[in-house]
Amino acid sequence: MYALGIDIGGTKIASGVFNEKHQIIQRWQVPTPSTATAIDAQIASVYREACEQIGKISAIGISAAGNVAADRKTMTFSANIPSWVGYPLAHNVSELIHHEVPVIVENDANSAGWGEYICGAGQGSQNMVMLTVGTGLGGAFILNGSLYRGSYGMAAEVGHLPMVPDGEQCGCGLRGCAEKYISGTALERFARAAVRRRPQMGKRLLELSGGDIDAIRGQMVSMAAKEGDALALYAFNKIGEWLGRTMAAISAMLDPDCYVIGGGVVSVGDILMKTARSNYLRFLEAAAYRPHAKILIASAGNDAGMIGVADLALRESGELPSFAASQKDEKENSKKEKADSKKDEKKADKKKKHNKD
Ligand SMILES: [Zn+2]
Repeated sequence: MYALGIDIGGTKIASGVFNEKHQIIQRWQVPTPSTATAIDAQIASVYREACEQIGKISAIGISAAGNVAADRKTMTFSANIPSWVGYPLAHNVSELIHHEVPVIVENDANSAGWGEYICGAGQGSQNMVMLTVGTGLGGAFILNGSLYRGSYGMAAEVGHLPMVPDGEQCGCGLRGCAEKYISGTALERFARAAVRRRPQMGKRLLELSGGDIDAIRGQMVSMAAKEGDALALYAFNKIGEWLGRTMAAISAMLDPDCYVIGGGVVSVGDILMKTARSNYLRFLEAAAYRPHAKILIASAGNDAGMIGVADLALRESGELPSFAASQKDEKENSKKEKADSKKDEKKADKKKKHNKD
């Protein structure tokens, strides 16, 4: 059984055909067209190509940066594609492929979160929260083995948690949103501000940016932090502190057993994660009297979104059972197997006894 996963990013559309074990069979990549109708046509053409080269495709899942309505078909808003306002993306693609297979749309952070849950760092967790620290801050909640989407498809918009009264201006129109303090963009802002305040300590960062404070980029901050540069480490500590505080706030609401942190900034590993973990405990209510959630780095790689949305499409369309149901079956089967093997052992023992007698 094959599903086509499509990941529409700001600059490229990545697509892949996956089997039900989440192995990739074939992949495609093209630049993202500038109009919504050209994107629809691009998806339909990849589907045709996949059918010709691989055979029957059972479902199409589309992961898109933006807000997806509760129907999992309509884009309600996207910062990347201006005409994606109330845009029937799944319906339009369905028309182009003559309704041959079900098409679902999912928000990119949710898709990546589901990918991490089924075949990445979140495997085996009951309640998992994914936080993707990229240009902005994305979130996904998986509760009791299901992706939680809320009543209107807007759950887990962690990036726009109002954290700081009258804080930094956010692209969403509000001030003080979490992603203004936890993102690659925030990392650059913290680093630039630090170099402005203490230029004598900012030699390494200035060297990397060609002497221009405004040209300091996230990758330069990561590189300098790995070398032990004090200002770069300070910028990561700021992000880590906010990340820890946000996780403690999420734990107060959802009490998950696992956080998976993804996105470009986690490439520095423990430099970020150590501060994030210690601040999570610092702000966690009754920390000494409760179990602590695991805080892990994402491990499913760049394909997590494609894998996740392809799997969601198969489950949504009924080609695969829900994840929670399949886990339950697996548990029952393994229990049965254990019971059967015990019975066999007893039988064998009896036989042995009989033979001795
Ligand atoms: Zn915002």
